[in-house]
Amino acid sequence: MTSHAVDRPLAATLAAVAQQADYSLLESLNADPDATATGVDHEPRQVSSGHYVPVKPTPLPEPVYVAHSPTLFAELGFADELARSPEFMRFFSGDFRVAPEPMREQGWATGYALSIYGREYTSNCPFGTGNGYGDGRAISGLEGSFNGQRWEMQLKGAGPTPYCRGGDGRAVLRSSVREFLAQEHMHALGVPTSRSLSLYVSGTEMVRRPWYSENSSSTDPDRWALDPAAISTRVAPSFLRVGQLELFARRARKGEHPRAMEELELILRHILDREYRPEISAEAGLGDQLVHLARAFGERLSTLAGSWLRVGYCQGNFNSDNTALGGFTLDYGPFGFMELFDPEYQPWTGGGWHFAFLNQPEAAHRNYHMFWTALISWDGFTQVQRRQLEAIREGFPERMNETIAEVFAAKLGLPSPAATEGLVQPLLQLMVDTRVDYTLFFRELSDLPEELEPLRASFYPNPKGVDESAWKAWLRDWRAALELDDERTPERVAAQMKRVNPKFILREWHLVPAYQRAAQGDYSLVRELQTVMTQPYAEQDEDTARKYYALKPASFFGMGGVSHMSCSS
Ligand code: AMP
Ligand code: MG
Repeated sequence: MTSHAVDRPLAATLAAVAQQADYSLLESLNADPDATATGVDHEPRQVSSGHYVPVKPTPLPEPVYVAHSPTLFAELGFADELARSPEFMRFFSGDFRVAPEPMREQGWATGYALSIYGREYTSNCPFGTGNGYGDGRAISGLEGSFNGQRWEMQLKGAGPTPYCRGGDGRAVLRSSVREFLAQEHMHALGVPTSRSLSLYVSGTEMVRRPWYSENSSSTDPDRWALDPAAISTRVAPSFLRVGQLELFARRARKGEHPRAMEELELILRHILDREYRPEISAEAGLGDQLVHLARAFGERLSTLAGSWLRVGYCQGNFNSDNTALGGFTLDYGPFGFMELFDPEYQPWTGGGWHFAFLNQPEAAHRNYHMFWTALISWDGFTQVQRRQLEAIREGFPERMNETIAEVFAAKLGLPSPAATEGLVQPLLQLMVDTRVDYTLFFRELSDLPEELEPLRASFYPNPKGVDESAWKAWLRDWRAALELDDERTPERVAAQMKRVNPKFILREWHLVPAYQRAAQGDYSLVRELQTVMTQPYAEQDEDTARKYYALKPASFFGMGGVSHMSCSS
């Protein structure tokens, strides 16, 4: 994403922010005809048509500043002090009454459908129809063109919407800190992602969630925990999801109401406008633009899944409703960064193998298929365009495989994807047998060792020992494939590798004390993690390295809330 800096002073007041408001979603899409005029719409109910429901957030009582992203503020052209200014804090903790004109006092929630690993579900909402599934506690509050780029801002934990399915609409500080830090970390890692604007916690409101006791090895939470309620605001070009497109496609296919096909077309046009301009020109006919969309989204989605493999990220719950149509990471629920390399790493106990670490490319393929199925529900394609779409769909797995080869070529410092042939599978097997830390291993490898010795820093204790001769053979093959010469000097290759193999990743056992202390009003560890994790490729100082460039301590293996979690809200 490029930012087109516009010559305007930094916005230092909410009124200055308001001047840049521009609600394209509200203006070009349909409101739910059953919505209230007041936005007081906080009980679970079916929403059978329309693209969004106007809804007022439930303000967080006594908001206290926890964090904001100075990087994103700068990109948006917001003055840094704004994050602690009373009006800004009130708005982004859910009190929209302070919105200056032309900002609006109502937010909006959107509905979406759900597919899990390529299979449609409708019975997942309380009404068994699929009409009650959507943003249950995320309320968008502002859309505009800030510093020359269009962004939407969404408050998570802002109270119930019609899609709340009976929940309280709140988010706990724990999950908000995790999401806030992870988004800016992923951005710094170079992984496409929604971003973090701000995080405020209530000085008085607490919410109850099932969670784990200290040192629990239970799979499911074993107690009720009372935690402070928080609102974090996430920012993205749009929050349009594959599941959302599916909702309108399913309705159009079934002719559920007279305007169903028209609503599908409107959302398709909106996806193009929000996520694919100027890459896809608005000059062509809609059918051709949508063929282009199918290709472009496939590219972005395969790149995304490849980036997750590169940095050791597991999204946990890679449903179609958690798949952004802009092709960036969205959701940050039961996610995790893998430490001990395990192809089946999955921090979410409800997620299973299908969303496990190395299966994410296949899960991306299934989500792509659901996107594609929704897309072809539009009734305006010609036969030629349908054939083009068919070819694009069939090409996804190959594109995904090329991306994976590119990722491993970069991680291994190899001159081309073809050079990974015969190196990756044996390496992954050795990594499993040896028990290695994914991040530490690739970072140590980036110094181009000739011997096994330096790599041992990334090995976890292993009663089965280490197969030294197998490693020796692999290292020899790898070093030969590196093709070091006067052009590809060891220094250059090492430097390249250190730009793709991060030194620091957000490990759950570092997050736990940060959110625990934050719940006591001490935000120092949140700040420290924010500083360290927004420069993940830098060497940083020795103290930081000692603390954060480290193997997961044995005591955290198998621990509930650290190694695995059953929910994250
Ligand atoms: P998830 O599986 O986390 O993506 O959430 C599925 C649905 O449940 C979404 O519509 C969420 O907004 C909703 N949801 C999750 N937690 C809550 C909550 N505390 N209150 C209301 N809705 C929630
Ligand atoms: Mg979700």
